[in-house]
Amino acid sequence: MNLILLGPPGAGKGTQAKRLQDRYGVVQISTGDMLRAEVAAGSEVGREAKAVMEAGKLVSDDILIRMLAARITRPDCARGFILDGFPRTVPQAEALDRVLAETALKLDAVIELAVDDAALVERIAGRYTCAKCGAGYHDSFQKPQVEGVCDSCGSPDFSRRADDNRETVVARLEAYHRQTAPILPHYAAQGKLQAVDGMADIDDVTRQLIVILDGVAA
Ligand code: ADP
Ligand code: ADP
Ligand code: ZN
Repeated sequence: MNLILLGPPGAGKGTQAKRLQDRYGVVQISTGDMLRAEVAAGSEVGREAKAVMEAGKLVSDDILIRMLAARITRPDCARGFILDGFPRTVPQAEALDRVLAETALKLDAVIELAVDDAALVERIAGRYTCAKCGAGYHDSFQKPQVEGVCDSCGSPDFSRRADDNRETVVARLEAYHRQTAPILPHYAAQGKLQAVDGMADIDDVTRQLIVILDGVAA
C-alpha cells in the first residue's frame, strides 16, 4: 500500500505515519527527517538545506526529488510506503507521478489531515521527540506515561527541533498555504484525495485513517 499523508506542519503526519507503519507493514518516509540527517552529517545537501529549514522555507525541488526517487525504490519499500512531508510543491507532485509511472508503482490513497492554523502553532511549539528512538511527544497533548522517560525505549533524553519555534512557524504556515496547498487539487483531479478531521484527538485521527485504509487494502 502506497500512501501520501498531506497537511500543514504540526498536522500530525509523523505521529500517524508511525502508527500506520506497524499496522500495515509499510515504511514511513519523512523528507524532513532525511534532511535533518543530512544536516547532522554535514553533507553537501545538509549544508545547503540548514539555513533554509531554519528560516521555515522549502528546500529546492531538485534536491527533494532526487532524494525521494532514490528512497522509494529501495527494497524496504517493497510492501509499501507512507510519504510524510513530500510532495510539498506542484513540481514535486508532478515528479512523483513520473517516478511512479517509471517504476510501475501506484498511489493507493492521498489523505489530507485538515487542521486549523491556530491549533498548529500550539502543536509545533510543544513538540519534542525521544533523542534515542525518535518517538514523538507533546508538552500538553502527548506526554510520556512516566515524566521524563520515553514510553518506547526508556531513554531520558529528548530533543526539540531548531525550527519548532513560534517565529518560524509563521513562515512554515505561509509556505504551506502558498506552495503546498496547491497540490490538493492535483490529487483531487486524480480522484485520490480524501480528508480526515485532524482537529480530533490522536487516537480518533488514527481510527479515521484505519477506516479509509482498511477500505483501500481490502
Ligand atoms: P507533522 O508531522 O504533521 O508536522 P506531528 O505528528 O509531529 O506533525 O505532530 C505535531 C505535534 O502535535 C506533536 O507534538 C504531536 O504529539 C502533536 N499531535 C499530533 N497529532 C495531534 C492531535 N490529533 N491532537 C493533538 N496533538 C497532536
Ligand atoms: P513539518 O511537517 O513540521 O513541517 P518536516 O519535518 O516535514 O516538518 O520538514 C521540516 C523542513 O524540512 C521544512 O520546513 C522544509 O524546510 C524542509 N522540507 C521537508 N520536506 C520538504 C520537501 N518535500 N520540500 C521542500 N522542503 C522540505
Ligand atoms: Zn525512545
